[in-house]
Amino acid sequence: MASNQQSQEASVRHVLSFDVEEHFQVSAFWSAARRQQWDRLESRVEQNTLRLAELLAHFETKATFFILGWVAERHPGLVKALAEQGHEIASHGYVHELVSRQTENEFRDDVRRSKRILEELTGAMVFGYRAPSFSITDRTPWALPILVEEGYLYDSSIYARFQPSEKVVMQRCVQKIVTTAGPIFEVALSTANLCGIQLPTPGGGYFRLLPYSVSRIVLRQFERTGTQFVMYLHPWEIDPDQPRMEGPVISKLRHYLNLKRTEQRLKYLLRDFAFAPVVDTVQPIRDMVRSRVQCGTAVCAVSG
Ligand SMILES: [Zn+2]
Repeated sequence: MASNQQSQEASVRHVLSFDVEEHFQVSAFWSAARRQQWDRLESRVEQNTLRLAELLAHFETKATFFILGWVAERHPGLVKALAEQGHEIASHGYVHELVSRQTENEFRDDVRRSKRILEELTGAMVFGYRAPSFSITDRTPWALPILVEEGYLYDSSIYARFQPSEKVVMQRCVQKIVTTAGPIFEVALSTANLCGIQLPTPGGGYFRLLPYSVSRIVLRQFERTGTQFVMYLHPWEIDPDQPRMEGPVISKLRHYLNLKRTEQRLKYLLRDFAFAPVVDTVQPIRDMVRSRVQCGTAVCAVSG
């Protein structure tokens, strides 16, 4: 019995993902004035992301990088380097606008533009999308069908705590959702029940806030039930020296908390658990990706 449990734990590969954006692009600090200054602010995304890639190489781990189109245009070498290292390149949209603040047409343009930029840079298909700040909710029912129409195979934008309805059922699994435009897989952000609240820990700010031992306990709990955890971080979260921005006190507290500790905690995580990109570790998506890549041939294109 014990050995069965041990082998189940050893066989779980969790999803590791990074949302690649500049430190000044986070939604909590958004302002129209700052948006106008993006090109004049200090860029740190390339050095931070390459540092992450170095860490991953040290632990022989690949991940999914959801990259902002705006960043990809300014750092094409970064996108190519990540792809050449075997990481999955996915889309974080183009301009880091919350989905709930876009019209349907703006959203379509945003996800289409970022996908095209990333595919032109890597010469490979992009299958996944993650919305800024997990902003696909019940209030944006048109978003998933648009992703299907734009050629995305999976979405990873749903966070149960933001869902006013019963979608908490999605918190610990990958689901196939049938939309009006066809099916799409939802790789929902994992959450754990801490003191009666579903929190996305370990991940993002919660990974920085809580001691590493909490992350370890949560992932072991997932492994005991054979469940994959969907982990996310941002490159700016390993950068304690980033310039400080003005903004709401709560945003500053959340954004700058424990930046010095993230890298070491990430090392512990990579030492203690097995991770892989979405396309390699989520079986139904892996199968679909294989068939879609094969359908890139002329024969499949003709047969539709
Ligand atoms: Zn983001």
